[in-house]
Amino acid sequence: MNILVLNCGSSSLKFQLIATDLERIADNSDQKLAHGQIERIGGAAIITLTAEGKTPQRSAAPVRDIKSAVETIVRWIASDASEIDEIKSLADIHAVGHRVVHGGEKFTESALITDEVLRGIEDCIELAPLHNPANIRGINAAREIFGGIPQVAVFDTAFHQTLPEKAFLYALPYQLYRRHKIRRYGFHGTSHRYVAYRYRTINNLLRENVNVITLHLGNGCSIAAIKRGNSIDTSMGLTPLEGLVMGTRSGDVDAAIIEFIASKEGLTVQEVETLLNTQSGLLGISGLTNDMRELLAESNENNDRRARLAIEIFCYRAGKYIGAYLAAMNGADTLIFAGGIGENSAEVRRLICENLSWMGIELDEKLNESFIGGREGIISTDAAKLKIYVIPTNEELLIARDTARLINADASKLR
Ligand code: AMP
Repeated sequence: MNILVLNCGSSSLKFQLIATDLERIADNSDQKLAHGQIERIGGAAIITLTAEGKTPQRSAAPVRDIKSAVETIVRWIASDASEIDEIKSLADIHAVGHRVVHGGEKFTESALITDEVLRGIEDCIELAPLHNPANIRGINAAREIFGGIPQVAVFDTAFHQTLPEKAFLYALPYQLYRRHKIRRYGFHGTSHRYVAYRYRTINNLLRENVNVITLHLGNGCSIAAIKRGNSIDTSMGLTPLEGLVMGTRSGDVDAAIIEFIASKEGLTVQEVETLLNTQSGLLGISGLTNDMRELLAESNENNDRRARLAIEIFCYRAGKYIGAYLAAMNGADTLIFAGGIGENSAEVRRLICENLSWMGIELDEKLNESFIGGREGIISTDAAKLKIYVIPTNEELLIARDTARLINADASKLR
């Protein structure tokens, strides 16, 4: 079946069209048919639509809202202009899978969307006021456009719902958790779950034998401790701000900093939160960019001190978390790098690992240099106590597969 995967943000929409079913899942022969995105929804939008193996089609046009964005994509997919051989009309799209950011404590795995599930996603709006409303608009748009075809919600938080209380509770007055559900939820769950699943498949392991630390290092960054196949700790918290240094997010800071910055800079709490989310991290330290590639070039070619410092702080924090999670798990078998930086930057991987040799983490330099650009495999030395893998993440594929599984009532592998 052909599944449209939608990732709706407040002003952008990304999609993939993937052919998959239970047989294709079993022999790993799913097929991406098309992908693309619409940016700057609400104004003069930039539209990029690509059928696999064909040249990207770029255009600019006004796109009013998410519904118009979904319509634009669907109209293109179903038209001759898209050159997707498998699709002749709207009827050739059989289901829609949605990335939904927050599932709160309600959703521990992906769910077939019913009115009740939609209400559950609405109930989580207060936990993700920017993201869940956009996801809901995408779901409603798809309902209007496609009528009754099955739709599935795949939650960023669901994989981390196995965290034990000692890992998900903050040391705050307990009634704040009771009253407002203030706790660690964790995000990027679909990515952590996917790479853990790939690792298990490559090594032919049972789920309960998967003891790994997964690092999703992209523009957003998070790390997860996965013990016996379950996430038992992760670095993002109530929101995606906590944890590792990211492109524009600070990650961990002393909570008292917020009030301090507010009074020193004459900002509101909300403005400080925006500063922590959008002007901090690699961008804030370097004063240059949130793009790791550019920072590496500035540091190596122009000897830029603050670019180097941003990279150092980024790698130091990641290394500290690896040490903490090895302690939390009482040891792990493998470290897995994923995300734009984790999959492509041998230098960042080397900088993170070089301080961890005492715990048996040892990169094979040649392998490390050669596993970039989407290559999947092992990059540690034979003698290393802890293996290191690069596994390109694929959240869209997991969303498509969960959609196919739920439609076929195969709920056995949703975790
Ligand atoms: P993502 O959010 O997963 O798309 O990752 C985006 C991040 O990956 C950006 O900081 C990019 O600079 C970084 N990235 C992509 N390719 C490379 C590369 N070859 N070397 C270093 N960083 C890269």
